[in-house]
Amino acid sequence: MAAGSKSAMQVAFWGTRGTLAAPGVDFQVAGGNTICAEVTCGDETIIFDAGTGIRQLGGKLIAERTAGKVNLLLTHAHYDHIEGIPFFAPLFSDRFDVEVWCGPLDGAADVASIIPGFMRRPYFPVSTEVFNANLTYKEVDPGQSYGIGESIEIMTRPLNHPGGATGYRVNFAGKSFAFVTDTEHLPGKTNSDVVELIRDVDMFIYDASLTDEELPEFTGYGHSTWEEGLRLAEAANAGRYFAYHHMPFRTDKELDAIDRKIAKQRKGSGVAREGMMIEL
Ligand SMILES: [Zn+2]
Ligand SMILES: [Zn+2]
Repeated sequence: MAAGSKSAMQVAFWGTRGTLAAPGVDFQVAGGNTICAEVTCGDETIIFDAGTGIRQLGGKLIAERTAGKVNLLLTHAHYDHIEGIPFFAPLFSDRFDVEVWCGPLDGAADVASIIPGFMRRPYFPVSTEVFNANLTYKEVDPGQSYGIGESIEIMTRPLNHPGGATGYRVNFAGKSFAFVTDTEHLPGKTNSDVVELIRDVDMFIYDASLTDEELPEFTGYGHSTWEEGLRLAEAANAGRYFAYHHMPFRTDKELDAIDRKIAKQRKGSGVAREGMMIEL
C-alpha cells in the first residue's frame, strides 16, 4: 500500500452494545450505543445493523456527501439492531438510495414489512411516509452469495437465534470482514456455518454477549461467548477477532479484562469499542 493511499476496506464501530443501550460512567469506553458497524469498500458504504449507533453515522454520511447509496444489511429485527432506523438522516434525503437487506424472520412476511411494522402507532408517532430516500429491499436467502456493484461479494449464512438471524461476510479487493451476531453455540460443537463465514477472514466480529461461565444460565437466549469467538477464530484460521454485542451490564472494567485475555491469545484482537476504526 502506497503511503497516503486509503486501504481497501475500513471497518468502524458506531455501536457495540447488545440487547439494550447502556449509558453511564461505567460504560463509556466500550460505548453505550446498540449495534451498528460501517464498512467502507471503495465508493460503497455497507452498514451492518441499525441500532442507536446509526444516528451518528447518518449525520456523518450526510455531512460528507450530498448524495449516494447506502447498503443496510440487517442480521435480524430485534430492537437493539433496528431502533436507530427512524433517526438515520440519509432516509430523510431524496438524494440518497437506501437498500435494506434481511434474511427470513419469524413473524415478518418479507423485508419490506419490517420497518413499517414498528414505525407505527402506538410504538412510534410517524410512519415510514416521512422518509424521502429511495428505499428498496432485498430478500436474503442465508447460504447464498450476492454482489454489490461489480467488485463486492457478500456471503451469508443462517445463525442460531430465536426467530432467525443472518451472518454476513464481505469480500472486496483481496480483503474480507465478517459480521456474526446474534448466535448461540452448543458447547463443545463448532458451528460449521460460522466457520465457513470466517474461514481465513482478515477480521470478524462475533457475539460475545456472555462468558463460558454464564452460558448455562442463558441457554436458548440465542447468544454466545467471547471464549467461543476465540475457539472459532482458531478453527477457521481467521485473522483479527473482536468480541461484540456487549451486554448492558458489562462494565468497561470487565471488558478491559476480557480484552487483555483475547489480545494475549490472538494478535490484533480484542473487545470492540464504539468509535474504533480499523483499516484492512
Ligand atoms: Zn442483539
Ligand atoms: Zn437478537
